[in-house]
Amino acid sequence: MMKRQLIERLNDGPVICAEGFLFEVEKRGYLAAGEFVPMVALEHPEALENLHKDFQHAGSDIVQAFTYNGHREKMRVIGKEELLEPLNRAALKIAKKIADNPIDGGEPNLMSGNISNSNIWEENDKASHLEVERMFTEMVGWAVDEGADLIMGETFYYAEEAYKALEIMKQSGLPAVVNIAPMGENIMRDGVSVVDTCKELEQIGADVVGMNCFRGPATMLPYLKEIRKAIKCHMAALPLPFRTTEENPTFFNLPDNNGCTCEAPHGRTFPTALDPLYCNRYEMRAFFKEVHELGINLLGVCCGATPMHQREVAEAVGKTVPASKYREKMENHFMYGTNERTAKHMQDYGDKA
Ligand SMILES: [Zn+2]
Repeated sequence: MMKRQLIERLNDGPVICAEGFLFEVEKRGYLAAGEFVPMVALEHPEALENLHKDFQHAGSDIVQAFTYNGHREKMRVIGKEELLEPLNRAALKIAKKIADNPIDGGEPNLMSGNISNSNIWEENDKASHLEVERMFTEMVGWAVDEGADLIMGETFYYAEEAYKALEIMKQSGLPAVVNIAPMGENIMRDGVSVVDTCKELEQIGADVVGMNCFRGPATMLPYLKEIRKAIKCHMAALPLPFRTTEENPTFFNLPDNNGCTCEAPHGRTFPTALDPLYCNRYEMRAFFKEVHELGINLLGVCCGATPMHQREVAEAVGKTVPASKYREKMENHFMYGTNERTAKHMQDYGDKA
């Protein structure tokens, strides 16, 4: 079966990439919130396989290896540096296996390697830059070894760290996607504007430039519009499914929107008490429809995403995916349905309920 590569697919139309593995695996009980290390690839590979399959069923065209935070620095934090390479290879092999076996037996999915914010990059600290370069180089190397079709570098809040990631990704010869994630100050940590960072990324050879994570639709969209005007290459948009606001642009500092005092022991809604702040699926659909109309073709939902959200993305841009079979059928509801068997007295009851 023929397998188109990333740029060819993006030229043909929208491409869906499911993300948000940290949060979804945590909710499924296989990963610790806060610590956020993807040990699941080694400890419960079947759980990770299942999640990839669920996202594939919901329309994801790319199976991204779950190596987010699976880097040397995080492994040092949890005292398991010796498991770094086994973890990366296990996550990549699982992603490859799912990508090569599409549900409908049609065109295989693409498998993507993944690198991300290192947590140790520091402006003007050359030693940290060198260490980050080593971290990215080893991870990209393992991704190439395991048969990745592309590499996605993500969640960068330092412009220079994003440039460094791109430099290493490009050495692999694979298509390179770079997504940035400015914090609430709305500028990169090293003082470069969001748009200028994206222009530079295009300039130095990124195939796709965009934004992921940290921001919900409301606080990501204005930047996507500006970036779209400033660059010509393909773009990516992978927001959170949370109601971030101008006052609180990211999910790190988002107050509970019901006004209740957050009962979380750490006093924040992030990351374990965000539940009341979810966008509904229709809000997500409207966002992706608009973003696609802007000419942005690499689309998906990040932290907080469930398969339902990924299906919504796919359907918002006109795709029918395996999970579309199970999209809502309110016409058959027992009170709100319009089915001829829905009893009139139950419809009346529903109006009052
Ligand atoms: Zn995320």
